[in-house]
Amino acid sequence: MERLKSDIRSKKLFLLDIDGTVSFDATPFDGTLDFCEAVRKNGGKYIFITNNSTKSNKDYVDKFLKMGIPVDNTSFLTATSATILYLKEKYAGKLIYVCGTKSFIAELVANGIRVTEKEEEGIDAVLVAYDSELTYSKLVLTCKLLLERNLPFLATNPDLVCPVGFGYVPDCGSICGMIVNAVKREPVYIGKPNSVMADVAMATFGYSKDETVVIGDRLYTDIACGINAGVDTVVVFTGEAKYEDLATTEFPPTYYCENIRDIYNAIK
Ligand SMILES: [Mg+2]
Repeated sequence: MERLKSDIRSKKLFLLDIDGTVSFDATPFDGTLDFCEAVRKNGGKYIFITNNSTKSNKDYVDKFLKMGIPVDNTSFLTATSATILYLKEKYAGKLIYVCGTKSFIAELVANGIRVTEKEEEGIDAVLVAYDSELTYSKLVLTCKLLLERNLPFLATNPDLVCPVGFGYVPDCGSICGMIVNAVKREPVYIGKPNSVMADVAMATFGYSKDETVVIGDRLYTDIACGINAGVDTVVVFTGEAKYEDLATTEFPPTYYCENIRDIYNAIK
């Protein structure tokens, strides 16, 4: 663990957290636009990785273009898009039972995933997502499939709560908590800190671990994701993590620096 150095210039694939790292709400941080321009000029790629599964890639593209950050459809990996890429790679052509919203299921189907919401023959895996349309009967069927058929248990993201106007509501991790209590096993969470998003980004765009770096403001999700993926990491102090946390964290980053402008200064 050391202060950020110009070694970071050898990186080609920059995987960045969003809130607290490059922006807050709809405002980009000082240095974000310069950073993005420098990465492009160096022939690299930046991808924003987020556990949020309630916004689509198109929502993010619109939001970032409004902030003046050049992005396209390939610039984001949300818990939803990572799940789609993961299923295509590991469960191609397989039938997936999904506990999730109608719009989430529609997005999977639109991307060629075979999905069922019913008890039927030939189901290959069970997938749980943030589900604002959750019913008790969906929970019962999810448990039944996991217990009777011992199917692989997948979930989009481990976040326990999701921020809303009045505070928080249960997110995917809390829904999974109810199921875990019943079936006595944990899902494979596709969101951070699992390495899946970083693995999928490297495989999809053809970059090696040495060429890749994960940048974020949270040690136990962003930095842990990079550590799990076996790539270098940079923590910034514009969000949740503080310099003092480095002394005690289980997830020490490769580098630390104040903010995204410091990273720009190192790669420019
Ligand atoms: Mg963050």
